[in-house]
Amino acid sequence: MRDIITLACTECKRRNYTTTKNKRTTPDKLQLKKYCRFDKRHTLHKESK
Ligand SMILES: [Zn+2]
Repeated sequence: MRDIITLACTECKRRNYTTTKNKRTTPDKLQLKKYCRFDKRHTLHKESK
């Protein structure tokens, strides 16, 4: 049971990535450093709906 989640850039609020996670094993909100092509640098991306 892996659910598709969206990762949104915390800088520009754009949703740049989708990924999957298992909500049972990972109940916390995901936070990943990823490259944002709008900010042209790595920013923190958080899970959003
Ligand atoms: Zn951004």
